Amino acid sequence: MVGLAGVVMNKKTIKDLDLVDKKVIVRVDFNVPLDDSGSVNDEARIKAAMPTIQYILNHGASKVILMSHLGRPKGVVVDSLRMDPVAKELARLLGREVEKLDDCVGKKVKDAVEASDKRVILLENLRFHPQETKGDEAFARELASLADIFVNDAFGTAHRAHASTTIIAKFLPACLGFLVDKEIKSLSCALTPEKPYVVILGGAKVSDKITVISNLMERANTLIIGGAMAYTFLRAKGEGTGSSRVEEDKVSLAKEILEKANCLGIKILLPVDHLVVSAIDKPETKRFTEKLIGGDIAVDIGPKTVNYFKQELEGAKTVLWNGPLGIFENPHYCEGTKEIASMLADLESATVIVGGGDSAAAAKEFGVAGKLAHVSTGGGASLEFLEGKTLPAIAAVPNK
Ligand code: ADP
Ligand code: MG
Repeated sequence: MVGLAGVVMNKKTIKDLDLVDKKVIVRVDFNVPLDDSGSVNDEARIKAAMPTIQYILNHGASKVILMSHLGRPKGVVVDSLRMDPVAKELARLLGREVEKLDDCVGKKVKDAVEASDKRVILLENLRFHPQETKGDEAFARELASLADIFVNDAFGTAHRAHASTTIIAKFLPACLGFLVDKEIKSLSCALTPEKPYVVILGGAKVSDKITVISNLMERANTLIIGGAMAYTFLRAKGEGTGSSRVEEDKVSLAKEILEKANCLGIKILLPVDHLVVSAIDKPETKRFTEKLIGGDIAVDIGPKTVNYFKQELEGAKTVLWNGPLGIFENPHYCEGTKEIASMLADLESATVIVGGGDSAAAAKEFGVAGKLAHVSTGGGASLEFLEGKTLPAIAAVPNK
């Protein structure tokens, strides 16, 4: 694994602001999974925010006010989605008391923030108010009125112009926390890569990834295409696809991509063998084949393809991986994705960046996430960034 280089953005971070005696409001991503008893099931997201919270506390801020959404309450109070279990876990991880408030705006909240003798305050679920996702200015202004500085450390919602992610930056000096700063720097490497640059694209649909393909294609030396979307490309090449999932209305688009790659001298690698079944829920029918015929449904790449893809990855300096190479959630069909993930973890010479929610889940599942240069925490946000779109919450933060 190689570290990260190449920064295209120069946004203000918490290191650029004087925090002494300031009240700092931080948009974090505490949208954690809860178990049946309502306790935090996986504290990874709370842990991930620790460096930013600790830094603010260690640099003289009078208060850290944390705010997040949790689940999808859709603008009304849902008791099972209150932030209390998060506050409990947060207090444990910080080793200090946390004042949890029962709302996020209003006079009571404002008074409670002023009166609190705790340095860490957690506001109630932002999405109990419909104004949050509407990006309501008055709501954002109320949130802003609680503090002197706004820090955005929630990458997963950076593609949404919500009140707490974007609009609030109109009313306070704004900067990025460490998590978002790393996301931006790391994902930027995939846009300004050191070459050779190999992009692995997989997942469910060509239509989900077409903008990513268009934006990255000319920057890459090689595109490796696996997952279900490979079959739309194989059809475009006139090859048999059996009963595998093909997006008929995207075949001509796939043809155009193949032709463009050919003109530009970009290599496109497609699977040369496949794990097939007669029905997705019949793993007992699985077998490998090079030719897809009749009722063959491809659920993973085959061993020849794994080697073929590995050979190409061998010399890469930068690798972006977006999209699993098979139905990795099913242990019967996970081998191809697992093999490629393990290989990426062992690639000594390359900076490996993973974008996309399912790809990140696969990296975690196969125990390689810690060995890669960067695994994005923002599924949709990472895809939009790779598509070349401006993320509103990032755009709202001024440059240095
Ligand atoms: P990401 O979230 O990383 O961007 P996607 O959402 O595009 O990835 O794709 C993930 C989904 O693609 C997974 O649910 C996986 O099961 C599915 N998938 C991968 N390969 C196949 C295949 N051959 N057939 C059907 N589904 C597949
Ligand atoms: Mg996905």
